[in-house]
Amino acid sequence: MSKDLYCRHNRQVLECPECMRLLPVSVWHELSWEGRTLAPNTYYVTMLTSCPLLQYWDVKKPEVAKDTVEGAWAKKRGYYLHYFDKAFGWHELSVHSIVKYRSQELLVLGRIDAYNPQLQTLYEIKTTAWASWQLEKRKSIPRKYDIQQVQCYATMLKAYRLPVKRLVLVYIDYLEICPIEVKFENRTAWIRQRVLSLHNGITRDKPPEPETSWFCTKCPYLSICSAGREYVQALNHKK
Ligand code: SF4
Ligand SMILES: [Zn+2]
Repeated sequence: MSKDLYCRHNRQVLECPECMRLLPVSVWHELSWEGRTLAPNTYYVTMLTSCPLLQYWDVKKPEVAKDTVEGAWAKKRGYYLHYFDKAFGWHELSVHSIVKYRSQELLVLGRIDAYNPQLQTLYEIKTTAWASWQLEKRKSIPRKYDIQQVQCYATMLKAYRLPVKRLVLVYIDYLEICPIEVKFENRTAWIRQRVLSLHNGITRDKPPEPETSWFCTKCPYLSICSAGREYVQALNHKK
């Protein structure tokens, strides 16, 4: 499935002469390509570690989304950076767990960036900008959702009886590599609660509560989210 992406010139990128002039169309097609189509009752961990209302609208109202080149790049650059894993001899690992709910089985999927069995360490790589400034001055990393994500992966790995002693979030930008150790927290109950809340929202057509964060400024559903717009306005006011 391909999505229309808006570029920084506020046009659809495939119709923007500026964007099309210097790069081949294949680049924009690749960025516009949205490969993920999920089977019913299936959820990625990353759907649980983000705003539930956004995830709900992704299923219910994808046509409203204003997808941008910037957003597509933010989503995909982590995937492209899997060459980084390979360069370090790391390998991706897929994990899953089942949440039983009444007569149904809900499947939770995770893709771990890297697991080193010798060091019993799990790594999750995140791209960002100004990593050490964010860490030391702004205190905006590690982000709550990133911590939850790596804790979910560790919880899922432990269910396979694989030892996990250390959890490391690796924030990388074009200047630096900032590894941050995260404490383990058993997320079993949390995963269940997040999955059920999203699942019930989707199946009963009841939008979950919004969770505002820095991400609202980039959210493709900002135009229909009053909580997000209020949050962004307040942020702009502070500047
Ligand atoms: S604007 Fe913010 S609160 Fe609203 S759906 Fe998007 S991420 Fe969630
Ligand atoms: Zn453009």
